[in-house]
Amino acid sequence: MADAAQGRGGGKRELGRGERVLPGIWRLRLPLPWPGVPHCNAWALKAGDGVVLVDTGMHQPGSMGHLERAMEMCGLTVEDVRLVVCTHAHSDHVGQAASIVARTGCELWIHPNHAHMRRMFEDPKAELERRLEIARQSGVPAEPLRRYAEQREDHDPGIAPTPEPDRDLLPGVIVETDLGDWSVHETPGHAPSHVCLFQADRRVLISGDHLLGRISLYFDYGYTPDPVGEFLHSLDVVESLGARLCLAGHGRTFTDVHAHIEGNRDLVAQRLAKTLAAIEGAPRTAFETLPEVYGAELSPTNAPWLLTETLSMLTHLEVNGRARRVDGERGRPEDEPQRWMAN
Ligand SMILES: [Zn+2]
Ligand SMILES: [Zn+2]
Repeated sequence: MADAAQGRGGGKRELGRGERVLPGIWRLRLPLPWPGVPHCNAWALKAGDGVVLVDTGMHQPGSMGHLERAMEMCGLTVEDVRLVVCTHAHSDHVGQAASIVARTGCELWIHPNHAHMRRMFEDPKAELERRLEIARQSGVPAEPLRRYAEQREDHDPGIAPTPEPDRDLLPGVIVETDLGDWSVHETPGHAPSHVCLFQADRRVLISGDHLLGRISLYFDYGYTPDPVGEFLHSLDVVESLGARLCLAGHGRTFTDVHAHIEGNRDLVAQRLAKTLAAIEGAPRTAFETLPEVYGAELSPTNAPWLLTETLSMLTHLEVNGRARRVDGERGRPEDEPQRWMAN
């Protein structure tokens, strides 16, 4: 998930919880302030006299207490962390990295394409402006856009300013634990910085948000040429590993990894078909296609998320020659939204 996915919300206060999944692997379930996504998982992997921590939870008031509580339930403390590894640079996976590194002096490893995260705390105004400009270009009317801008103005990114990683988390890097070595596999699409970790002897996959128990799509739009195409390729990459247990970034562990990969492919195919149908015959903005593609699912809360998904789908259709941008004979005036049409 990413912060764009859900609005702020109340709901009942969850507490951090920890449980052993396998000898030497603990699931740390950490609360999130997002309705519909109540928590995320960090994973503690036994390594010598301490643990490797994969993902961190968000940086929020009280969030370190949740991590401490979850670790305590597993007989661990934050001081046991010898290395922080992040599956991707979204707030719920990297948010507390800086605090843990400051406290333990351990190293931080992240994939180098994490510029999308740095903008969130280095220049939040520019990041909001970027999002608003994308929305304007997509045909979002002035009123909902103004409401969104207002909501986001004092938005807390949920990420403590994060130091540059000590190591680029790229294929070839090995994460050593008592359970064995974990290899690194680039899986962009959900986020440009996304990687999965794989332990080959036990066929265990740490999937971050690339594969989730409950199939749900999210694409970071605007950083790479074709997030949907990248995501589909990443599904092939993970399929070739032959994992039999998946430790995902949200929700419970699951074993039917292949079925989850197929489920993601099916959902992408359905969304692509609906998006294409919505731009058959007449040019339309991304915003105009939303009701047709998402119907009753569409709400003011999820519209920003679904808009980036739609832009990612339109871009994928364009890359594959199935859709085009319609700019008129004299080009498109700056205040005109972008329209799309099926080929
Ligand atoms: Zn997430
Ligand atoms: Zn994410």
